[in-house]
Amino acid sequence: MKSDKAGPEPSFRSDVTVELVKHSASDTDVLWAARVSTAGEQSLDELTKDPERSKGLLNYLMRDRHGSPFEHNSMTFFVTAPIFVFREFMRHRVGWSYNEESGRYRELQPVFYVPGEDRKLVQRGRPGKYEFVHGTPEQHKTVTEAMEESYRRSYAAYQEMLEAGVAREVARATLPVGLFSSMYATCNARSLMHFLGLRTQHELAKVPSFPQREIEMVGERMEEHWRLLMPLTHAAFNANGRVAP
Ligand SMILES: Cc1cc2nc3c(=O)[nH]c(=O)nc-3n(C[C@H](O)[C@H](O)[C@H](O)COP(=O)(O)OP(=O)(O)OC[C@H]3O[C@@H](n4cnc5c(N)ncnc54)[C@H](O)[C@@H]3O)c2cc1C
Repeated sequence: MKSDKAGPEPSFRSDVTVELVKHSASDTDVLWAARVSTAGEQSLDELTKDPERSKGLLNYLMRDRHGSPFEHNSMTFFVTAPIFVFREFMRHRVGWSYNEESGRYRELQPVFYVPGEDRKLVQRGRPGKYEFVHGTPEQHKTVTEAMEESYRRSYAAYQEMLEAGVAREVARATLPVGLFSSMYATCNARSLMHFLGLRTQHELAKVPSFPQREIEMVGERMEEHWRLLMPLTHAAFNANGRVAP
């Protein structure tokens, strides 16, 4: 194998990022859609007249799982996270659109995931009934050193193949799922709630889920953006056990 001097130097991250790049999303979008069925065109005027009634309507829609009024809005996020997060993320098929950076058309940059100090490292218990606990400093050291060493070697192999004239789409096979990728993900409040119900752990959840921490980190950041855009819808989601309508 060639020297690992070739190409850019690998860097290591323990965070994910979620940027809200575009949105058209507000609580009134839900109210408008719900009231159009009963009040017709006049419904737009009714929205701000009685805030308590509007809150009550949102709560009713959430509780009784009248989901479609929550679809008339849109949020586009730019996400950077390791590939293993995107593998899980893209299982969410309904109400989501994705575009991810290409490993065929561009040279992949050596940015890799290494768990931070606060990431629980050790799994205890049996499948279906386990918990994660903090690792020792020695375990953190082992994880960091093993991952960084493995990442450096795989990226050096990638660079070696590119230098030898091998196509990017072939050479990338050597890169691990800890490599960072980026994507645009567009959703609406209903599909986001379904995602959050499965990919976050929350004390108010009626149906608990046990997601991998790294996708939960993405979910938490998305939820914070959404909460600011649609505070009443978010409150109703929490008040009704975080079950998507
Ligand atoms: C904690 C956790 C662990 C997981 N572990 C694994 C695992 O080990 N292996 C694995 O492969 N996956 C695993 N998954 C992924 C999981 O099985 C789902 O693929 C993922 O959560 C997306 O959920 P969804 O299908 O409800 O979402 P979406 O694809 O967004 O679908 C939304 C809803 O639409 C309906 N729907 C969508 N497609 C269909 C369809 N074809 N037929 C009927 N109804 C449909 C369903 O009601 C569905 O809930 C895991 C998920 C979680 C949260």
